Amino acid sequence: MIRLWKHSFLFQLSHLVLPTAGFVSLPTSIYRHAVPKVTGAATMALGNDNPFNCDDTISPMVKTVAPSKTIEVFALTQEMKARGERVVSLCVGEPDFQPPPAVIEATIAAAREGKTKYTGVTGTMDLRKAICADLVRRKNLEYAPADILIGNGAKQAVYQAVLAVVRPGDEVIIPTPYWPSYPEMVRLAGGVPVVVETTVEEEFLLTAEKLRGALTDRTRMLIFCNPSNPTGAVHSKERCEELAAVLSEEGGKGKGVWVLADEIYERITYDTTHVAFATMPGMFERTMTVNGFSKSHAMTGYRLGYLAASPIIIKAATIIQGQITSCASSISQEAGLAALSVSDAEMQTSFDIMRQKRDFVVKRLREMPGLTTAVPEGAFYVFPDVSSHYGKTAPDGTVIGGATDLCLYLLRVHSVALVTGEGFGYPKGIRLSYAASMEAITEALGELEKCLASLK
Ligand code: PMP
Repeated sequence: MIRLWKHSFLFQLSHLVLPTAGFVSLPTSIYRHAVPKVTGAATMALGNDNPFNCDDTISPMVKTVAPSKTIEVFALTQEMKARGERVVSLCVGEPDFQPPPAVIEATIAAAREGKTKYTGVTGTMDLRKAICADLVRRKNLEYAPADILIGNGAKQAVYQAVLAVVRPGDEVIIPTPYWPSYPEMVRLAGGVPVVVETTVEEEFLLTAEKLRGALTDRTRMLIFCNPSNPTGAVHSKERCEELAAVLSEEGGKGKGVWVLADEIYERITYDTTHVAFATMPGMFERTMTVNGFSKSHAMTGYRLGYLAASPIIIKAATIIQGQITSCASSISQEAGLAALSVSDAEMQTSFDIMRQKRDFVVKRLREMPGLTTAVPEGAFYVFPDVSSHYGKTAPDGTVIGGATDLCLYLLRVHSVALVTGEGFGYPKGIRLSYAASMEAITEALGELEKCLASLK
C-alpha cells in the first residue's frame, strides 16, 4: 500500500518537472496548462523520508514573507495568559469599545431574516450605495457603486489593490514606520518594497523631498497610510498637496505612479483634519482608497472593508476576490449598512474618549527620561523613540540591545505587552495602543516607567 502510494506521488511530481512551454502532452482529451518547473519538489522527493513534513514542501513563495510581528506578540501574550499569568496588553490594534447598538441589532436581524446567503462578489448594492453616500458627505469623494469592492476587511482590499497593479520587479514606496503587512503583500505580488524612513523628529510625516528621492523609473505605487498605524501621524491637507504635486511633476518620475491610500483610521483624528488623498489635485484617477469598519465602528471581527477606485482597478480586484473568497459575509454587510447610519454625534463619543486617552499617554510618556514622543493626531497608537535606552543592562543582567529585547523584557519581568518597532521597519521605537481601559493604560505606563528607570 505504502509503496504504491509513494510511487504514485513520484509520478505526480514528474509532471511538475516537464517542459514548461505550451501544453503538456497527455493522453487523449486531457489538456493541462503548463506549470512552472518546480525543482524544490523534486529535491524533496529524492532527499526526504517524509515529503509532507519537510521544509522543501512549502512553496518558496511563502519563504519570501515574514510572519506578522504584531501577531507574534499577541500570540506570546495569549500563551502567558493561558499559563495563568497576568499580562497588561497595549499591543492589539482594535478599539476596546463595542460596535454601536444599531450594528448589533442589524447583525441579529440579518441572521433571523435569512440574509445569510452569498451576495454578489462586489457586495450588496445597498451597502455600496451607502458607502458612496458616506464618502461624498464626509470626504468629498464621488464614487459610483460600481467603483466600490467590498471585501473581507480592509486587509483584503489592500492586498487586492497591490495584486491588481504590481508586476514582478516593480518598486513600491512604503514610508516607515509602516503597517507590517504592506512590504509582505508587495513581496507576495513579486514587487520590491522601497522603504523611506520618516523620523520621530519629523513627526513621522513624509516630506516631498523624501518622496521625490525615492521615485525611480521602476516605481509603480506609493502606499500611503493616513492616519498611520503605527505612529498615529496625520498628514494635513497642505502636506498631502505637496506629495500630490511631486507625483504630478512635469518631467518627474511620479507621473505613472499609483497611490494606495489606506484611510482605515480616517474617522479617528484629533486636531489635524483628515483629507482623502483622492481629493488632491490630479490624484482621483490614480488613487485607490481603502477603508472599512474595523476601527471606526469597532467591527474587527466582522471582517468588512472596501476598496474604492477607478473601474479598471475594481474590475481587476474583483476578478481576484472572486477566485479566492467571493463576497464578504452577508451578515456583516447588513451590519455595515447599519453602521453607516449611526449619527456622527454618537460616533464622536467613542472618539472623544480616545482623545482623552491619547492626551494622558503622551503626557506620561513625555515625563519618562530618554523617550522622544511625537503627538499622534489620529488612530489610537503612539510610537515613542526609545533608542536612547539601547545598550543598557536590566537588573537581572539582560542586555537591552534593541526594541524587541525591550518588549520581551517588559513582557517577561513587568507583564506588559507592547509591540516592537522592528515589525514596523523602525527599530528605534515601540508601539503602544491606547485603545484599552484607563486602568490598563495607567498600569502599563507605570511599569514601563519603572522598567526604563531600572536600566543602567
Ligand atoms: N490597514 C491598516 C493600517 C490597519 O492597521 C489594519 C488593521 N490592523 C488594516 C488595514 C486591516 O483592517 P481590517 O480589519 O479591516 O482588515
